[in-house]
Amino acid sequence: MERIYYHPDLALYDFGEWHPFRGKRFNDFMSFLEKSGWVKGYDVIEAREASNDELRTVHTENYINFVHYAEEKGNIFLSPDTYVLPGMVRGCKLMVGSAIDGVRFVWEEGGHALAFGGLHHAYPDHGEGFCLFNDVAISAKVAMLSGIKRVLNLDTDAHHGNGTMDIFYDSPQFLYISIHQDPSTLYPGRGFVHEIGRGDGEGYTVNIPLSPGASDGDYMFVLDTIIFPIIDEFKPDICIRNGGTDMYVGDTLTELSMSLEGIYTLGMKIREYMIKNKIPWVDLIASGYGNEIIKSWGFLFAGLFGLDMDDVVRIIDVSQSKRELSPDVLKSTKDTVRLIRKSLGEYWNI
Ligand SMILES: [Zn+2]
Repeated sequence: MERIYYHPDLALYDFGEWHPFRGKRFNDFMSFLEKSGWVKGYDVIEAREASNDELRTVHTENYINFVHYAEEKGNIFLSPDTYVLPGMVRGCKLMVGSAIDGVRFVWEEGGHALAFGGLHHAYPDHGEGFCLFNDVAISAKVAMLSGIKRVLNLDTDAHHGNGTMDIFYDSPQFLYISIHQDPSTLYPGRGFVHEIGRGDGEGYTVNIPLSPGASDGDYMFVLDTIIFPIIDEFKPDICIRNGGTDMYVGDTLTELSMSLEGIYTLGMKIREYMIKNKIPWVDLIASGYGNEIIKSWGFLFAGLFGLDMDDVVRIIDVSQSKRELSPDVLKSTKDTVRLIRKSLGEYWNI
């Protein structure tokens, strides 16, 4: 069973004209799904706002109050790059509510759900990186409080999920695996190989930084050598995968070089793995910058939902931004994998 959580008010999560993160992406993508006919195969569920009680499973009371105050007052920054415009709190709470419901649905019924979100930079007491409340962490926390023992978070966003990682840094119940652009070259400057968790959580944080220019082959290589073998051992009860398409070569904020076909294959490989291993999973999608967001989301969606590539190319214009591939990048990815084996080899058979 597969579901999509959506509400037109998700568009309220909008940083304003001139900002690379506009809320209309969600409505544009739903229109695309309707126009393509793809949406017909799935139940579309109306997203609901998360309650303040649910937000409190991760965020401090003071911070939640401050975000509401900032929205009312206007012109207040939560951090140098993140502010709150009117309506954004509702947009954000819809993301959090649908992530929670998506996780509950796949846990109870098995299967797969898509919700819009993935605000992995938000911390318990502050927002940053265009993220107000951390829907990934909250949905995982609510799941754990209801008795789910092992949660996998597979973070394929081009940026490292510093907020999510730090929230669960001590926990052996939460396996955080992130593939992202080398943090010495991109915000948030976290997610180095040596960051592996702390105390009981040591070994349960797996950071896979890729050099600028990393592409389809690099992603496939780390999936097969690091990611799938570790998940095999961890045996999660559920998986929350987050990340839109800011690893796409045409993205304007990052320097990774995934092709559209590569993004499709990434989605498909994750789907096949989750189905084969009977892991219920939720996808959270929000990121992507530039004017090819809907197209690249289409490829990601098609892979994650197991659509035929023939169908995809019939519906989406496949012209794409140009890539210049360098053989040095794959070499540096292989070096990174060696480093990961060194720092995590005592915890996992990799
Ligand atoms: Zn990102």
